Amino acid sequence: MTKNISLLGSTGSIGTQTLEVCEKLGIKVSALTANSSTDLLEQQIRKFKPSLAVMGSEEKARDLKVRIADTDTRVSFGTDGLCEAASIESADTVVTAVVGMVGLKPTLAAIEAGKNIALANKETLVAGGSLVMKAAKEKGISIYPVDSEHSAIFQCLQGCHDKKQLKKLILTASGGPFFGKTIEQLRDVTVEQALHHPNWSMGAKITIDSATMMNKGLEIIEARWLFDVPVDNIDVVVHRESVIHSLIEYNDNAVIAELGVPDMKIPIQYALTYPERYPCDVEQLDLTKVGGLTFFEPDYETFKCLRACKKAMKLGGTATAIVNGANEAAVRMFLDGKIQFTDIGDIVYESLDRVKVKPIETLEDVLEADHQSRTAAGMRPQAIRVFNFSVE
Ligand code: NAD
Ligand code: MG
Repeated sequence: MTKNISLLGSTGSIGTQTLEVCEKLGIKVSALTANSSTDLLEQQIRKFKPSLAVMGSEEKARDLKVRIADTDTRVSFGTDGLCEAASIESADTVVTAVVGMVGLKPTLAAIEAGKNIALANKETLVAGGSLVMKAAKEKGISIYPVDSEHSAIFQCLQGCHDKKQLKKLILTASGGPFFGKTIEQLRDVTVEQALHHPNWSMGAKITIDSATMMNKGLEIIEARWLFDVPVDNIDVVVHRESVIHSLIEYNDNAVIAELGVPDMKIPIQYALTYPERYPCDVEQLDLTKVGGLTFFEPDYETFKCLRACKKAMKLGGTATAIVNGANEAAVRMFLDGKIQFTDIGDIVYESLDRVKVKPIETLEDVLEADHQSRTAAGMRPQAIRVFNFSVE
C-alpha cells in the first residue's frame, strides 16, 4: 500500500478526490501541483503540508510563494517543476492527475526515479504508451490504473493466472449526453450542453471527450498499453447506467465484470491501496434501485473520434499522439467558441491524413508529432474562419 504520494494536478476533479482518499487513509502528500488555481492550491498546502508545490507559470509561482511564505513548502513551476515533483524522494507513488499529454514528461521522470504510478492521465499513455511501458518494465515499477474502466479490468484480472486464457476486454461507455443523436442533431450543440454529462462529474476536457466519445477511443488505446492486449481484442459496449465499469471475457466465454456506483473514489483508492481494500466513502450499489441495465452498440459513424482512435492504434507509431494532439487542440477551440461540436470529430479524424505518422524512438518523436498535429488542427478552415470572424 502507498504511504506517500506526489500528486500532479491536485486541484482538478481527480486531484481533489485523491486528497479526500489520502486524508481518510492517512497517506502523506509530498508534492502538490496546479496549473493556475492558486487559491485552492494554497488551501491544500496548508492542510497537507507538502515539501514542494508547483504552479503552471513563473508568475503564478511567484504569487504562491508570497502567499505561503509562512510555510515550509518550496515552490517551483512549469514542466521542470512537474518533473521535480514527480521524482521527489519522499514519495513512493506519483498520482498523475493532470489533464493532457503535458503529463508525459513528468510520468517518465517519475518512472526514472523508481516511483510507482497511479495513472489517471490517459493522454500520456495515448501519446507515449510505448515509451512509458518500456521505461516502467525496465525500472520494474507498477502502473495502477485510476480510470474507472481500467481499474475495473484490473480488478477483474486479479483471478487471472495466465493472460493467454483471456479472450477480450470489454470497455463500457456511458454514451455521454448525445447518445442516439445524428450528426445533423449534433451540429449546433452548445458548450453548455456538451459539458453536461449524465452520470459522472469530471473536468471540462474529459467531459467534452465523453460527449464526442473520444474518451472511449483514448481508453481503448490506454487499455492496449496497460494490459498489453491487441486492439482487436478490445470491445466497447454502450451501457447507459455506468453501473458495470468494464468486463473481461475468458476463453471459455465466462465474463467477469466489476460493478459499483459511478464514483471515482473507488478506483482512486484501489490504485493507492492495492492489493488491500479499505472502506470507502461512497454510496453502496443497490441493484434493485437501478432496476435494469441496458447495452448498445457504439455508433462509429456519428462518433468519428472513436473510429479515429481505432485507426490510429492500428497504424501505430506516432498516430495515437497525432489524434490526441488534434483532439486536445480541437476541444480547446470548441470550449473557446471557435469551432462547432462536430468539427472536433472531423479535426481528429483528418489529423491522420494531415500529419505524417512515424515510428516512436524517443520522446522527441512524440513531442514533434503532438506539435505538428496541434498546428494542423489550428490551421483548418473552420478554425480560421471563426477566428477571423471574431477579430473583425
Ligand atoms: P481537471 O481539469 O479537473 O483537472 C486537471 C488538473 O491538471 C488540475 O489540477 C489543473 O491545474 C492541472 N493542469 C491542467 N492543465 C495543466 C497544465 N498544462 N500543466 C500542468 N497542470 C495542468 O481534470 P480531471 O477531470 O481531474 O482529469 C485529469 C485526468 O484524469 C485527465 O487525463 C482525465 O482524462 C483523467 N480522468 C479523469 C476522470 C474524472 O472523473 N475526472 C476519470 C478518468 C480519467
Ligand atoms: Mg474512464
